[in-house]
Amino acid sequence: MRVRFGAGETRYLADELDDLGWHRAMVICSPGRADLGHKIADTLGPRCAGVLAEAAEHVPTGVVEHAVAEIDALGADSCVAVGGGSAIGLAKAVALARGTPIAAVPTTFAGSEMTPVWGTTTGGHKTTGRDPRVLPRSVVYDPELVAGLPVPVAVTSGMNAMAHAVEALYAPDATPIVSLMAEEGIRALSGALPRIVHDPGDPDGRSDALYGAWLCGACLGATSMSLHHKLCHVLGGTLGLPHAPTHAVVLPHVLAFNLVAVPEQAAIVAQALGGGADPAMSLWEFAAHVQAPRSLQSLGMDEGDIDRVAVEVTAASYGNPRPTTVDHIRGLLRAAWAGAPPQS
Ligand code: NAD
Repeated sequence: MRVRFGAGETRYLADELDDLGWHRAMVICSPGRADLGHKIADTLGPRCAGVLAEAAEHVPTGVVEHAVAEIDALGADSCVAVGGGSAIGLAKAVALARGTPIAAVPTTFAGSEMTPVWGTTTGGHKTTGRDPRVLPRSVVYDPELVAGLPVPVAVTSGMNAMAHAVEALYAPDATPIVSLMAEEGIRALSGALPRIVHDPGDPDGRSDALYGAWLCGACLGATSMSLHHKLCHVLGGTLGLPHAPTHAVVLPHVLAFNLVAVPEQAAIVAQALGGGADPAMSLWEFAAHVQAPRSLQSLGMDEGDIDRVAVEVTAASYGNPRPTTVDHIRGLLRAAWAGAPPQS
């Protein structure tokens, strides 16, 4: 995969497609990013087959089916995904169905552009997997495109990226190189997000956050995720909670739960966050500092759903450094639901 990073780099997208030998790219974006999608389509000229502004969170299979039909009808040979994880996720689902390669132009900090991980949702059930065909061949990080990213989306998508790095540090397939990227990614985002909140017009804060997103996305692409990602996946897929805000709420609680099993990795997180004694508490305080949500209740979750989610998560198979029981998950979810401090 090739990565370009720098303000204004999107202007080279047409050259990028030429280098890749793609002739008719479908531009995919969410409805809110349709203007940008059309602007990118203009820069591609005849290389663009059309603009599909239909991406939606959690990638509903109905949207995928329609996108595949459009790709077939317009004879597109590739996709340019412009937007956050939803647009990139739709392009990935199309790649899985049709083998169309992807160039990604991320406009949030979620990090999906660096991973071979795909996910789709049908009838309240989210299915995910890994497939090399969905890994974008080319990624263009252009800080100018995140200049207008609303602060709440910047903050929560940035915390979503930090979660990739935290879980990469204690992943069963962690490596020293990926751990370095994880530490640097957490450091970059924990430094940049408060600057974005303090001064939304500061281009350097946004550029540094994009750099952190690149690192954290690469960590997710290189390792297997654990309890945190499983929990958020169930909360999003089953209850329809918003993806990035759910990550922001849950992360301190999962880290608190896993602390005893991974003290060395926890110390790295603490260091990257600025040196506090308890990284879970530091993350929880960080969330307040950047005005991220801290309770699942505030995201619309019913207290009555805690048991159902605890049972579903415990029954699923995934690696986690500390074994879990339904009681553990229930306790963790109760604290996250109520917005209580994380309990080690
Ligand atoms: P998103 O893509 O859903 O975008 C959130 C909102 O912000 C949308 O309304 C979008 O139109 C708007 N937006 C995006 N960029 C903007 C900009 N620069 N300016 C103004 N508005 C902008 O949010 P997300 O957090 O990036 O992605 C969430 C999705 O990504 C979830 O479905 C999640 O499962 C997926 N995801 C996948 C991976 C992976 O590796 N497969 C990793 C992370 C997230």
